[in-house]
Amino acid sequence: MKHISNYINGQLVPAKQGLTLEVFNPAKGKVYAYAPDSTPEDIEDAVAAASNAFASWSKTNPELRSEIMLKIADGIDARFDELALAESIDNGKPLNLAKNMDIPRAASNIRFFAKAITQFATEAHEMVSEEAINYTLRQPIGVVACISPWNLPLYLFTWKIAPAIATGNTVIAKPSEVTPMTAYLLSEICIDAGLPAGVLNIIHGRGEVIGDAISTHRKIKAISFTGSTRVGGHIASIAAPMYKKLSLEMGGKNPTLVFSDCDYGKALASVVRSSFTNQGQICLCGSRIYVQQSIYEKFKNDLIKAAEGLTIGDPLDANTKIGAIVSKPHYEKILYHIELAKEEGGHILTGGHSVSVEGCEQGWYIAQTIIENLSAECRTNQEEIFGPVVTITPFEDDAQALDLANNTQYGLACSLWTQDISRAHRMARDINAGIVWINTWLMRDLRTPFGGMNHSGVGREGGNEALRFFTEAKNVCVKY
Ligand code: NAD
Repeated sequence: MKHISNYINGQLVPAKQGLTLEVFNPAKGKVYAYAPDSTPEDIEDAVAAASNAFASWSKTNPELRSEIMLKIADGIDARFDELALAESIDNGKPLNLAKNMDIPRAASNIRFFAKAITQFATEAHEMVSEEAINYTLRQPIGVVACISPWNLPLYLFTWKIAPAIATGNTVIAKPSEVTPMTAYLLSEICIDAGLPAGVLNIIHGRGEVIGDAISTHRKIKAISFTGSTRVGGHIASIAAPMYKKLSLEMGGKNPTLVFSDCDYGKALASVVRSSFTNQGQICLCGSRIYVQQSIYEKFKNDLIKAAEGLTIGDPLDANTKIGAIVSKPHYEKILYHIELAKEEGGHILTGGHSVSVEGCEQGWYIAQTIIENLSAECRTNQEEIFGPVVTITPFEDDAQALDLANNTQYGLACSLWTQDISRAHRMARDINAGIVWINTWLMRDLRTPFGGMNHSGVGREGGNEALRFFTEAKNVCVKY
């Protein structure tokens, strides 16, 4: 049984009170490791280490930070297979997905910000008639917190940490207690790469036990959070009175719009991916599918067939496309939502039940599920389920498609499929979402802004948005 440690002040240490949490392998439904069940005392130690480290780290040249970060990225590459396997076992995702998406992205997140910081320019504004010049300093904030979820563990963890340390801050990072393993392995990688003690401190534990200690700590000046809207709202409510800078990346209920003039084959293949990749546990998955009436029946039937063709099984099996659900509570939540959909009049077109996988009988598996005949207002179409469950609904025209797409409290992402260029741009303009894909899904350029509106988030990450978030802009005005 593996024992995970906290990473505080450059050292791997247990939780101060010696408490541990069980870490499950969802594919088998069994405990396979223990992680620190940290308490606010551990946060105090981490903040003290980060505060000490800030004095020197914030004064380093970007080139030095970049160099160390590139070594961390190289360390991820060097332990690629081990990290991918750990991610799959910890999370239940297919090993192939961890190899093709999670771990490569974790390394590129770090490389991207290692390079971006050396190019990060500040602005100058000359006031010609007054004979003065303003220039903007972008200074690190201090000790900052990065809190991340379980669905893309190392991918999102590095996405937050990289811009935070690149800009000269020191960090208290809290990975999800459900999937702590790759964050722990990252601490070993950081030690090997020579990251100075205290620059990054990784604290494992339960959000409800240590979350408030992070969100209200007077020395933590900014919080970058990715997770549920419920927890993001809670953090905002207790951190805002202390005037902390907040970036909140939260839940979604993303629409996918398929118009009759789409490239049918590409749209179908992409909708299968956007519905079920990572068991539907990606904030960007399209969980509400709207298809134009004239192709609705055909598209629906082809989607059912394609979904049924995805192999559900042991995440370590190379043929597996749908792995296990991350945890028992989440598995139960998804099954609850399937029952609710039935009560709301939903017609289950395929799936709608748990699955027993040979050799993994204790694991948590749910069949890919497609539901129709639901109103736009029902809970199934309004609440985030975050599993392999989608709804499908016909629409008549552009106006109705837009109404349906925007009929949500969320506003994270939308993908739309049409070959009519004017319609595509008009829709993109009018859809309430931070990210719109036209004839694609999940394509990301790390330089672009990332985030949601309404209940999906506050603020943007990615590229310069992240570098700006993790710095204070100070204007200096000089009279000649
Ligand atoms: P969660 O909100 O339960 O947990 C996220 C993180 O917050 C975890 O590390 C958790 O321990 C911590 N946390 C819990 N309570 C806390 C508290 N009181 N104070 C501070 N931290 C606390 O979310 P989850 O179940 O881990 O992840 C799934 C959710 O994340 C979904 O809603 C999904 O849409 C969302 N998500 C959003 C994005 C995005 O970019 N918008 C990306 C991935 C996931």
